[in-house]
Amino acid sequence: MKKINIAFDGPAASGKTTVAISVAKKIGWLFVDTGAMYRAVTWLALKNNIDISDKDSVIKLAKENPVILKQDFSLPSGCRVYIADNDITTEIKSAGVNKNVSDVAKISEVRKCLVAQQKKMAENGGVIMVGRDITTVVMPNAELKIYLDASVEERAKRRFKEEIESGKDVKFEDIKKSIENRDKIDSEREDSPLKASEDSIILDSTNMTAEQVIDEVVKLVEERGK
Ligand code: C5P
Repeated sequence: MKKINIAFDGPAASGKTTVAISVAKKIGWLFVDTGAMYRAVTWLALKNNIDISDKDSVIKLAKENPVILKQDFSLPSGCRVYIADNDITTEIKSAGVNKNVSDVAKISEVRKCLVAQQKKMAENGGVIMVGRDITTVVMPNAELKIYLDASVEERAKRRFKEEIESGKDVKFEDIKKSIENRDKIDSEREDSPLKASEDSIILDSTNMTAEQVIDEVVKLVEERGK
């Protein structure tokens, strides 16, 4: 099969990562979670007690601290995330990062810096990349573009189940609110807002199992990679 690029966008907790990891495992290509990169910069800002509204300081951090992603399919997240020698794979999923990441991702200079790294990763094809602006900005020429959606209720249910299973003490309503809040900021921002590109295939997974979505995507990959 030809090594094509596959771009996934969609709102928070729409199952993009789960689906992309399964597809990457099946066909052996590189999985890139761009959300992890915005989360890593946010984690670093919080760790350094930098106020997220202090844009210049956040931009400086993003420019001086490359985020390293190492594919690791033994983890549910599909990759380990590092800044310098710090393994921050778990830390980037904290409530504090969830709360602040969309404000960090609104900063154009931060986006510019991370998008340049993402475009480089996609140069040779065979990349499955997940995010909010992958079909529109990072890989507008990807051979397959998918916008994965689901109702907010369903997405909150799935995320709640995941968090409870991983031992976290969370409330369903808080998770739903956090998802709605991020979606609002991500889709209303000026630079690279979350939206489906005109040539994206829209998959609504509200009434589909993960396996059904994965099968559908693998079928599309096989068609496009012929
Ligand atoms: O995908 P995930 O939910 O981990 O992304 C965290 C946040 O990072 C999103 O809510 C969004 O604010 C930002 N993001 C982005 N562009 C991307 C990927 C993520 O703005 N390509």
